[in-house]
Amino acid sequence: MKNNNHTICRRCVMDTTDSNIKFDENGECDFCQNFDKNIKNKLISLRDSTQLASIVKKIKKQKTGNYDCLIGISGGVDSSFLAHIVKNELFLNPLVIHVDTGWNSKESVNNIERIIDKLSLDLVTIVVSWKEMRDLQLSFFKAQHPNLDIPQDHAIFASIYNYAVKYNIKYILTGGNFATECIREPLQWAYHASDLFHIKDIQKKFGNMRLKDFPMCNIFTYKILYRYFKGIKVFQPLNYFDYKKEDSMRILENKYGWLRYEQKHYESRFTKFYEGYWLLKKFGYDKRKAHYSSLILSNQMTREEAITKLEKDPITEKDAKNEFSYVSKKLEISESELNFIMNGENKSFKDYKSLHFIIQFFVKVLRFLKFESRLIR
Ligand SMILES: [Zn+2]
Repeated sequence: MKNNNHTICRRCVMDTTDSNIKFDENGECDFCQNFDKNIKNKLISLRDSTQLASIVKKIKKQKTGNYDCLIGISGGVDSSFLAHIVKNELFLNPLVIHVDTGWNSKESVNNIERIIDKLSLDLVTIVVSWKEMRDLQLSFFKAQHPNLDIPQDHAIFASIYNYAVKYNIKYILTGGNFATECIREPLQWAYHASDLFHIKDIQKKFGNMRLKDFPMCNIFTYKILYRYFKGIKVFQPLNYFDYKKEDSMRILENKYGWLRYEQKHYESRFTKFYEGYWLLKKFGYDKRKAHYSSLILSNQMTREEAITKLEKDPITEKDAKNEFSYVSKKLEISESELNFIMNGENKSFKDYKSLHFIIQFFVKVLRFLKFESRLIR
């Protein structure tokens, strides 16, 4: 594989804004090659109702309390559709967890309420200490880190895993899926949210307080201790269906009065600001390229359609202004302070302590042993 002069892949829309991208002699990128090698077959082979039925049977069999499994809900399409599938197609009784990081959009609040209500599900809302959430988010801003969503992402997954262990619920079902996420965001744009060592280093350098109540769980705790010693299993049911984003949104709208939002992950108001404005304008990273490329490879969007959409900014200038002012108010800093950070020198995750090399090593070993064919998030 060589890196030649292509700026954009000829098959998807990933490009040299990921400086590690590599192209083959046909101008196809390494994300596409990984798709062909590791994911394409799974997209088809997993759609097997016998396999699915046997997993569901196992999930039902191990039930000890009131619930078969735990699912997280954000109000976004994947987690909302997951709740629908788990209850209506798999006939499981899940406990639903929502982690409130303080940034819910009005669409996400509406969507969670409607899904829970119409499916008669039990919901637990874990509210993250806003004082600590705010301080940690500000630390990531001050660190000039490209992945400002690490604090939210960490709080969400740590809360769900820790809850499962505490209440002895063995199965966590997630909305993760190959169909809309077969192209991972490059590490440079989105470093692992599960690297607690990295988070702690940034908080130590830039934070004003020690994290006490903030939900925490490091990558090896959940990958090894929880999985192999506490028996927690993670299962992604959407991979067993012909999961199409547009069709799923239509079902959710018609059945539940679910509301759309402009882009993947914009159910969080912070993520809308961060992915739709900050990351693109400050770092030049457009996460839509990974989202649309996934849809291209799973035949849900044409490359031409993606290119046309990418010509326009993800949010309008007016919207960006509103979000900028909302975020600064919410974080209790002035707009000029936020502007000052925006104009500061960009850094990368490599500028801070991390478990990057250890994680890379484990991913290689696990891949070799065929346990893990995708990058750990
Ligand atoms: Zn490609």
